[in-house]
Parts: sequence; structure tokens; C-alpha cells
Amino acid sequence: MARLEIYQFPMRSDNYGGLLHDEKTGATAAIDAPDADELLAALRKTGWSLTDIFITHHHYDHTAGIEAVKRKAGCTVTGPAAEAGLIRGLDVEVKEGDTVEIGGAKGIVIETPGHTRGHVSYFFPDHGAAFVGDTMFSVGCGKLLEGDAPTMWTSLSKLAALPPETKIYCGHEYTDANCRFALTIEPENEALQARAAEVAANAKSGAPSLPTTIGQELATNPFLRASSPNIQKRLGMEGRSHEEIFGEVRRRKDVF
Ligand code: ZN
Ligand code: FE
Repeated sequence: MARLEIYQFPMRSDNYGGLLHDEKTGATAAIDAPDADELLAALRKTGWSLTDIFITHHHYDHTAGIEAVKRKAGCTVTGPAAEAGLIRGLDVEVKEGDTVEIGGAKGIVIETPGHTRGHVSYFFPDHGAAFVGDTMFSVGCGKLLEGDAPTMWTSLSKLAALPPETKIYCGHEYTDANCRFALTIEPENEALQARAAEVAANAKSGAPSLPTTIGQELATNPFLRASSPNIQKRLGMEGRSHEEIFGEVRRRKDVF
């Protein structure tokens, strides 16, 4: 089995870049291309040469660097078929269940719409890692810019069903602010209290809060915890559907 090395690095103001590297073949993929110069600098630093870019969604802060990086590196750009018209430089269109390959490592495309209409995530089952763009953040989730609450709830539920030890690489470092909001929704959650303290200390030292894991998110992320009796009670929504409860948590975050 191919062994993937994963290098995560900050880009722009609060984005993360991710590089996946297969030692045996030298193949290297970037998850999204937020900024060409910063991505090229990360490649120089690692000494890896880029073969692929896997795009999660069409937003500028995930695609701005595609064309310049492609000119330099001559890589293949793969992204969601549903957003093909919105992503310049796209070579390969993917949808639910398709696979992407980096060296011998296989990634499965999971459609996770809600933040955007065609957002996809990439799950590498043999490596226990998933790249989820702006669908799930640590202790948070993406804004519903092109989808409704039931759509996003379905997408988050797909990610929540991955093995709990799966490492989750998110598109942004928002965890500190997310924890402050989450504590208004479920203040009695001890796992959340511990995560908030850890992340606040990290934020001071500049250490990343990511990757997270599905297990950690299930325990702390209010957007995955519609089944929590404490949350249902606090929102006055006992007995309501999980997608409705999720929608209310999302609405409150939007005005927090
Ligand atoms: Zn976005
Ligand atoms: Fe983003």
C-alpha cells in the first residue's frame, strides 16, 4: 500500500493548504489552490513536485492560484462536475463515488453540497484522512451560501459516518471563534470545554487546531450534535427533527 505523507500549511489570512505526497512514485497533490505564490513556496520547502490539484469548491479563496500554479507545474486539476463552469483551469470533473489517485493512494469523492451547490470532499480510506474544504470546520461548519439546512445536514451526516479516528483537514482555521459560539449552545459539554481551552492556548502560540478527527467533532461540534438532549432543551426544540435543530444552530451562528 502506498504511504501518503500529508503536509498542512497556512495560506492567505485563515485558509489551510494541504499537500499529499506518495514517496514511492513522487506524485504530489494539493488540496485546493488558495494562493499560487504560497503554494509554490510550500512545494519548494518540501521539495515535492506537483502532479495534481484536487478542488473542493469554486470559491475564490480555494481556486485563485489554479491557473498560475498550473502554468508553472503543469499539473492536472480535478474538481466537482457540478461546479465545472465556475472553476477556471479544471481538467477532470468528478462526482459522488468517483476515485482520485495520487501515486498508488486512492481517494473517494464524497459530494457534500450546502456551502456551495457542488462542494465535494476527498476521503482516503487507507490513510484515514479526509479533506472537507468548507463543509465541516472544527467545532463548526460552512455557511449555507448555496444550499439549505437539510442539504447541509445530509452532507455533514455523511462525513460524521466516517470512522471516528479519521483525520479531518478543513479549509480554514476558525476553531477558536467556533468554540466561543459552541459554548453558548452547549455550555455543559465537558469535551467542548476542554477543546475550547486547548484551542485558545494554541491560538496564542499560533499552533494549528487542525487536523481534527471525526470522533472529536462528534463530541464537540454543535452542528453534528442535534441529538444532544441538552442542545434540544436549550433551543426549546425537544422532539424536532435533527435537520431542523441543525438549521437553528446554523441560524444562531450566522447572527452570533
Ligand atoms: Zn468557501
Ligand atoms: Fe473558504
